[in-house]
Amino acid sequence: SSKKCRHCGKINHELKLHMRKWKCPNCNKINHRDINASINILNEGIRIISSE
Ligand SMILES: [Zn+2]
Repeated sequence: SSKKCRHCGKINHELKLHMRKWKCPNCNKINHRDINASINILNEGIRIISSE
C-alpha cells in the first residue's frame, strides 16, 4: 500500500523499498513512504466501515 500515491491513487510499481519518499510520476507530488502507507491503511479502514 506504500506504493500508492495518496494524492491521485496511482500505484508506482517502480518504487524501491529503500526510498523513504518519492515523487509521483502522475501528479508530481511528493509522497512520504511511512505517512503514505498509514494514510492508505486508514482509508482502507474507512472504506470497510462505510460499506457495512
Ligand atoms: Zn499522484
